[in-house]
Amino acid sequence: MTGDPLTSKIRSGGTETLAIHCGDFRFQAAFHEFLNRSLNLNGNYDLMVIPGGPLSLTLFEYLPEYQRATSKWFRFFAELHNIKRLILIQHQDCAFYRSMPDHLHSSSDLRQRQEQDLLRVKERVEKEFPQIAVELYYAGWDATEHVIIEPARA
Ligand SMILES: [Zn+2]
Repeated sequence: MTGDPLTSKIRSGGTETLAIHCGDFRFQAAFHEFLNRSLNLNGNYDLMVIPGGPLSLTLFEYLPEYQRATSKWFRFFAELHNIKRLILIQHQDCAFYRSMPDHLHSSSDLRQRQEQDLLRVKERVEKEFPQIAVELYYAGWDATEHVIIEPARA
């Protein structure tokens, strides 16, 4: 053992919220703050942190194995915890997105591509899981390098 004991206690009860976002270190503190403070979740949510965030849920034609794995993980949380609220966050300058070929998208503008993909995921999830309300957010930074997270443009 190193350091002081943690102060966090194991949570009891249940959660009906799942969040999915990218693992880019530059945004982790802001994502955490946004989920816990701005959305007032106080740690009461399941979380999937994967490169590109919700992107893999859209990659059926190009990388079906990514889509399959991500869908399986998503379904696991959705069914195990009877998820009713899904929070999807994309972020500015996502390197994983840049590794994806442009032809997968109808726009060359990165933010527009990301927001189109968010919408695709929302439509698909709501069709298969009508009980789940899907919220879409986009994280960027301002001139003072503070992270801003706002609803994605649909
Ligand atoms: Zn990213």
